[in-house]
Amino acid sequence: MRRGRVSTSARALANSDDRVSVFVRVRPLVGVELAGGPDGGKAHKCVVLEPASASLALETPWDARVYSFAYDAVFDTTTPQDAVYAAVAAPVVEAVLEGRNGTVLAYGQTGTGKTHTLAKLEPLAEAGIIPRAVAHIFSYAAAHPDQDVRVVLSLLQLYRDAPQDLLARRAPDTAPPLSIRQLKGGAVYVQGLSKHPVDSVDAVLELLDIGYARRAIESTRLNDVSSRAHTILRLEVSRRDPFSGSRTHGVFTCVDLAGSERVKKSRSRGARLDEAKFINKSLTALGNVIASLADPGVSYIPYRDSKLTRLLQDSLGGNCVTALIVNIGPAVTSAHESVSSLQFGQRAMRVEARAHINYDETDADKSMAARLASAHAELNAAR
Ligand code: ADP
Ligand code: MG
Repeated sequence: MRRGRVSTSARALANSDDRVSVFVRVRPLVGVELAGGPDGGKAHKCVVLEPASASLALETPWDARVYSFAYDAVFDTTTPQDAVYAAVAAPVVEAVLEGRNGTVLAYGQTGTGKTHTLAKLEPLAEAGIIPRAVAHIFSYAAAHPDQDVRVVLSLLQLYRDAPQDLLARRAPDTAPPLSIRQLKGGAVYVQGLSKHPVDSVDAVLELLDIGYARRAIESTRLNDVSSRAHTILRLEVSRRDPFSGSRTHGVFTCVDLAGSERVKKSRSRGARLDEAKFINKSLTALGNVIASLADPGVSYIPYRDSKLTRLLQDSLGGNCVTALIVNIGPAVTSAHESVSSLQFGQRAMRVEARAHINYDETDADKSMAARLASAHAELNAAR
């Protein structure tokens, strides 16, 4: 098995505080893989994890090459949801509570555990990153009543390249699609997206139940309920900073990307095939944006190539704390997709990301605080 070992060095920026952090999670064998192929046997695994060195090896079935990849951490099938939260998302939520922008993205082939990792709501012990992030924020709020923490929720899906509000009064298939707009300062927003002030974990979970039930989902051969859209959750978190007295504004964005399955494998036809084309096109654009951001020689970043990359323009690097989870399946039958997802993760490790605190800019105090923050950022940059 050791023939032709290919070591794909991350060549990542050394300090994960200054770049996108990247994690890999491998799910257990499921469904058709356990039932076995024509010979009735279970699918073979082709991935070996080495959690101690945050790396993994994958042997390709077609030419027996062994690829090695290193990340910030790798999670095997025994890693529980709370450990994934602690490593991947807790630092992002802490940054958001300070007033920085933070994003968690899950990338991978359909059926590899993106929704399980991010959006599983119950049972509590198996809850994913989103409900844990919400609980984290409200427990901070309860422990710091003097900071007057306020939270506003939005949930949208990008279906066939159309942004749709999952929490609007009208169901997404009956409402006109929303448009993406850009402010003078460059910030991108979705016009007309509904915003829901929330004051408890239960209030968020109630809304998510409604919103998730409206997602465009479909059965594929690879899992029972596969999302045919990208789902983007936003939590705007503001609080009064006890030191400056200003309000800080952090946005937590959580992106459950639609799967990048090969059309042939999922036996897509008709409308399903059309959806797959939209998905593949937007994921290609995302890959191009990541590749451009990762290359210091490139100054033009093709955000405008797709709605997905436009929407994520402020969430992929730059002024944002960003964590990417690459979800893969362990089976040889997924080796091709796994290698391509793992390579995507390697590129993302070269994307710079360093977030500053967003202060209110409405009164003198605030602009003083902002000046202090930018002086601080300049000092950091000069280090
Ligand atoms: P995706 O969102 O990437 O298409 P899902 O999250 O729907 O994939 O997961 C596909 C199937 O695999 C589901 O039945 C899910 O419960 C199961 N699964 C995924 N990850 C894990 C895991 N870490 N442990 C146990 N089951 C998992
Ligand atoms: Mg999913």
